[in-house]
Amino acid sequence: MLVSMPVSAAQILLFDADDTLWENNIYFERVIGHFLDRLAHSRLSRADVRGQLNAIERLQIARLGYGVRSFARALEMAYRQLAEKPPSAEDIADITALALQIEREPVQLLPDVARTLAALRRRHRMMLVTKGDYAEQSSKLERSGLSEYFEQCHIVAEKNTGFYKQLRTRIHVSGAACAPADDNIWMIGNSPRSDINPALTAGLRAVLIPHPHTWVLEHEDLREPPAGRFLRLEQFRDLCRHF
Ligand SMILES: [Mg+2]
Repeated sequence: MLVSMPVSAAQILLFDADDTLWENNIYFERVIGHFLDRLAHSRLSRADVRGQLNAIERLQIARLGYGVRSFARALEMAYRQLAEKPPSAEDIADITALALQIEREPVQLLPDVARTLAALRRRHRMMLVTKGDYAEQSSKLERSGLSEYFEQCHIVAEKNTGFYKQLRTRIHVSGAACAPADDNIWMIGNSPRSDINPALTAGLRAVLIPHPHTWVLEHEDLREPPAGRFLRLEQFRDLCRHF
């Protein structure tokens, strides 16, 4: 559903970070590709191995949260479980190093992000809302050069309905929202599961900007949004046409 009317009054824009402002999942996909090559399982297909890795990642996220360290542990566990001969210490060290190289990847902004944020900031209040490891996400924000655009930065373990309800209340109490408060707070991101569905359920509005390489664990069917509370845009710069 596309709402094309421009929103003229000042809004509160909450931005997801990974795969909304900058590339993230492509680095994980690249490492998983190398992992599959190295495992080279003789009977399991790459899709089967990937399915098992996804299941192990879910378990690790429940234990350790999101982030590269949690992913490295999942990759190591998957290798131990699936390798056709007992892995050597060198094998495990290589797998861990493969995963940890993601921490050294540059922060690659998605097209027109800095220019668009600069334009939006003249008219609206903006906050960053990201999930994951605090040190990891803070480091990416700092290296991105985008921190000046956000008056607040929230790094949380999970972006679910409870979190968005709490955030909405805090924004309301802090006086940042103009009445009617719930109608001028928008969550903007690439993930139906973490950005769109829970924000809409919590009473916020939402903007989906799909990324072609969104992480499989972020996939979820979009719930039917209430009329006029949801936008789907193809490009980040399209935000300027609506806000
Ligand atoms: Mg994201």
